[in-house]
Parts: sequence; structure tokens; C-alpha cells
Amino acid sequence: MTERMKKALLDLKEKQEKGLYTLCPRCGRDTMKPDLYTNALSRQADLMCCDSCGSEEAILAFMNKPYSLYQWAAFQPKKPASDFRDRPGKEVWAIICDRQAITISNLYRRFRRGEDPEEIRFLAHEQCPGLIDLWTEPYHMKYECSDGPLTITFSLDADDTLSMEASLP
Ligand SMILES: [Zn+2]
Repeated sequence: MTERMKKALLDLKEKQEKGLYTLCPRCGRDTMKPDLYTNALSRQADLMCCDSCGSEEAILAFMNKPYSLYQWAAFQPKKPASDFRDRPGKEVWAIICDRQAITISNLYRRFRRGEDPEEIRFLAHEQCPGLIDLWTEPYHMKYECSDGPLTITFSLDADDTLSMEASLP
């Protein structure tokens, strides 16, 4: 688990205890009983979740099915506003090169160093306005434009020079 996620878990635990966060952090619904510790203790994190999530976790554990904390409602990225949908791909690519090149290059380098792909995806959604999706096998990013999707692929050559290539709509 990354430091960022550990901190997010601690923050949320404190908010739950103080009654400042009352939705179920796993499903995001208003299904928590008022007395916090009569709800279910998650198997994944030191947090209380609603009874139906508690049962679902038990079933997933029994079936040995992984479930990432990044699938929890409380840990969804807050996506910044973007007007890329109203702009053609050529224009979007110019804006990305101008305002996001450093961010997306750094994220790709972190991915190549073996950092948690779920964390990379989360950070990308929070830091890259207009991003629709990020895949890691193989690694590429997709942005929605007025004339179709724009896809960006990355590569690192032997002397660690990074290059980005865009497939315009
Ligand atoms: Zn729930």
C-alpha cells in the first residue's frame, strides 16, 4: 500500500469516528447504522463499512477474488473539469503538450519503475483534465475530443529519453 493511500485511510477513519463521514466508504450509499461500531469492520482496511458490504467482502474472500481499495466509493478520484470534449483532437494534443507533458511523463516513469498501477491511474485522473482512461497493459492514455478519442502512447529508449506519441482521431 502506498503512503498516499495509508494517509487517506487514516483520514477517513478519523472522519468516521468523529461522525463527519457517514456514508459507507465502500459502496458510497447511506447504509451505515448510526452507531458506527455496530456496522461491519472491513477485511481490507481498518474502516467500518455497511453490513451488506461486510457480507460481500466475506463472499469475495471466500471466492478468493481480489478487490482493490481503488474500487471503493471513498477512494474515487476527483476529476478536474475539462472542455476537451468540445475541442478537436489536434487542439487537445497541443494543450496536453503545453500543460500536461511533465505530469504524464512523470506518471509513466513511475509506472515503469514498478509503482502500483492503481495508484498511477488514480493520480492521472486527479491531475490530468480531460483524461477518459488509462490502461497499463500496454500503457496508454485516452482523451475524449469533439472528433473522437485521442490516444497517447509512451516509450523510454536506452538512454532514458522519454517519447510520447499521439494517435489523433
Ligand atoms: Zn456499503
